Amino acid sequence: MDKQKNIDWTYEAVNFLIGLYPIKKEKDFEVIYTRATNLIKKHAHAKAAAFVRMEDKLTVRKHANTSEHFLNRFNNATLVLTLLEKNQIVFDTDNAFPKEEGEEVVFIPLSESGFVGAVLLLIDEELKSDELLKFLEYALVGLKETAFIIQNYFLIEELTTRFNAILETIPQGIVFVDDVGKGGWVNSQAAEILDIPKERNHPVAIAEAMQQLRNTAANKDEIIQEGMRLFRTPGQKIHHWKWIFGNPITSVLSVSCVPTISENIKGRLWVFTDVTFQHLANEQLYELNTELAEKRRIADDQNKAKSDFLANMSHEIRTPMNGVIGMASLLTNTELSEEQIDYVETIRISGEALITIINDILDFSKIESGKIELENKPLYINNVIEETYDLLSVNANNKGLDLLYFIEPTVPLEIEGDITRLRQIMINLVSNGIKFTEKGEIQVNVKNLGLEDDDFYKLEFTVKDTGIGIPKEKYYRLFESFSQVDSSTTRKYGGTGLGLAISQRLITLMGGSIRVESEVGKGSSFIFHIKARAHKSVKKYNTININTEKVSLKNKKVLILDDNKTNLKILKAQCSIWGMNATTFEYFEDALASIEKEDYDLVIIDMLMPVKDGIEVTNIIKELCKDLPVILFSSSGNHHLLSLKENTRLFEAILNKPTRHSQILKAIEEVLSKSTKSAPRIIDAVEEVAPSLPINILIAEDDSINQKLLKRVLEKMGYMADIAENGLEALKAMEEKRYHLIFMDVMMPEMDGFEATRIIVEQYPKNIRPIIITTTANALTDDREKAILAGMDDYISKPFKMQDVKDKLDKWKDEILAKVEQ
Ligand code: ADP
Repeated sequence: MDKQKNIDWTYEAVNFLIGLYPIKKEKDFEVIYTRATNLIKKHAHAKAAAFVRMEDKLTVRKHANTSEHFLNRFNNATLVLTLLEKNQIVFDTDNAFPKEEGEEVVFIPLSESGFVGAVLLLIDEELKSDELLKFLEYALVGLKETAFIIQNYFLIEELTTRFNAILETIPQGIVFVDDVGKGGWVNSQAAEILDIPKERNHPVAIAEAMQQLRNTAANKDEIIQEGMRLFRTPGQKIHHWKWIFGNPITSVLSVSCVPTISENIKGRLWVFTDVTFQHLANEQLYELNTELAEKRRIADDQNKAKSDFLANMSHEIRTPMNGVIGMASLLTNTELSEEQIDYVETIRISGEALITIINDILDFSKIESGKIELENKPLYINNVIEETYDLLSVNANNKGLDLLYFIEPTVPLEIEGDITRLRQIMINLVSNGIKFTEKGEIQVNVKNLGLEDDDFYKLEFTVKDTGIGIPKEKYYRLFESFSQVDSSTTRKYGGTGLGLAISQRLITLMGGSIRVESEVGKGSSFIFHIKARAHKSVKKYNTININTEKVSLKNKKVLILDDNKTNLKILKAQCSIWGMNATTFEYFEDALASIEKEDYDLVIIDMLMPVKDGIEVTNIIKELCKDLPVILFSSSGNHHLLSLKENTRLFEAILNKPTRHSQILKAIEEVLSKSTKSAPRIIDAVEEVAPSLPINILIAEDDSINQKLLKRVLEKMGYMADIAENGLEALKAMEEKRYHLIFMDVMMPEMDGFEATRIIVEQYPKNIRPIIITTTANALTDDREKAILAGMDDYISKPFKMQDVKDKLDKWKDEILAKVEQ
């Protein structure tokens, strides 16, 4: 008890804290706790003290430099663990620790900052008191605080190390200067950029170095101005501020400056990034782009100039060419020897081939220089195909090729579009098909791919042939201008390599695209689509204007015999659309066998077949079944056979190939409705009008396709018509040759049809003046009146059919003949 009285615990507590102060500067937990343990021992007047640490749940590690002797008596991890859980200073009342008489052990838990352990004191039992406990509690608070400080110290040290590592590894130069001019720092990269030692980090020194750097910049004035703006407004930041050095440029810095605001220090953080490489690359790219844009502009100009030149040249060439052809046809009208006729024909044919090429070039250059505008007028899709076939049937017949088509029933037949241009595409593709096919057929299919927005139908056209095909690796060149798959074939097949290029561009103008599918030796398919509105009048989309009311074709049984499988397929489909029941045969033996068994209403038969032709087979059919009506498909090549009367009598109708579906329907209807048999009618056969009406005809028309079409139609009637490109040329042609009939287009460049007609009416007396028939696209009454007023005799509205032209010739025949005699 005496001992107790002599101790001033407040004094001891103060001295403990004072003693702890230098320990706070230590950086090692072990050292701190060991020293603190000794300090506690001293001020608590303990006999011995130990500092233990829990390594894990089973191991207590004793620190050697505390009281060795005391520690050796104690080795009980479970006990320490139990006491630690209590987390308070305790006297060993249960005598759990080994001790001697008159001794007491005090357990002081230490669990701070991930450190788990305790200080154990061995004291004289007499010292055990509330005061001692209080002293120890003070001591513990001091220890905890020390631990906290040290933990933060470690944390800061770790962060500083990390921060410095980052600062030194990034490629940017980083500078910090505070606003009050007291502190600042730079990283090594910044020190290098500013050319100062890294240690010279006083803000004034840094500011001076930055100023110096700025002054050496090539864009110094700009930098200073921008800097003034930056510092005028507090809180203002800047990024991508270019500091450019050297002329020519040697280096470029991209500078960022942002204010850093913390509670204690306000300042600015500067980041310098070396962007020399990017800057130079960008400059070079910019220069290149400008150069490229300029080159492109020049190339576009040149291209346009080229197209304009081509357009002009083709026009210029065409004029004398018309002279050549015109003169050649004049020559044919004179008396010539066989040999001379042959020469003149060659001149005429070559001239016409040349005109076709020139027309292609003209068209192409017109499209290229953006001078083509598409019409948007109602047109019938079947007309486009049928007119194309009319135009090309001679070439196809010469090679024995079938021209077939099928329009799916869902296709709106009457659409709005540009018939001339659509026909031009079709003519290009079909004539290529004919050109590159020796055997088989050309087939056009039209499909409706569906309605798109704005009521536009996506219509797909396929032109398929059974010709030589195109190797896949050549596809990409097909639609290029002036390109041909194999230049060696050019000599064989001719052509300019422009047809597909023109078609593709026209298709693009129609909102579509074209592609090719082909197999060498098997044939090619050119597939394109266009976007078109159905004409307002079209409500229900069905195939060609069927009028099945007069004679119901429903369930009528028809037998079709043809060696062409595609044709059989098409006809069968077409017949089923008309409500009929078609059975098809490829071999005549099978067909005859079927006729013997079945009760057919009608037979459709092809003329040209291997083994037995149409006439021979029909002869057998008629023997088998006298009253069974037969319709024959014939090509112009077989007319001599058909001219024999007894042969024609075999058939109820004869249709000329390529057959129009509307004609087939008409023929079927007529044949089936006819009760009594009369002589067969040859429908749309080539009727030569020329022998009964030998006259000279002039076509004044600027559009090459329309020219060709009318010329072909007239050729079929036996006329060699001449062509004038416009009103002026028509007048010129009239000076050189006497014409009896002129088909005059209204809209033409240089001089239109009205003007030309007015002049003709003025210059030529009525009795010798040719009959002038205007060919106009818009059959408006307005135009008709204008035409009559100008002195035109009649009009025919485009698109016209062969029959329309024939009707006009019939109508004016007498009057023209009267004039011929003048
Ligand atoms: P052209 O027929 O006037 O030479 P095109 O542009 O119409 O020009 O055709 C280019 C080339 O594409 C042709 O020369 C030919 O080699 C190839 N080609 C076009 N259509 C066919 C086809 N149906 N079959 C095979 N080759 C074709």
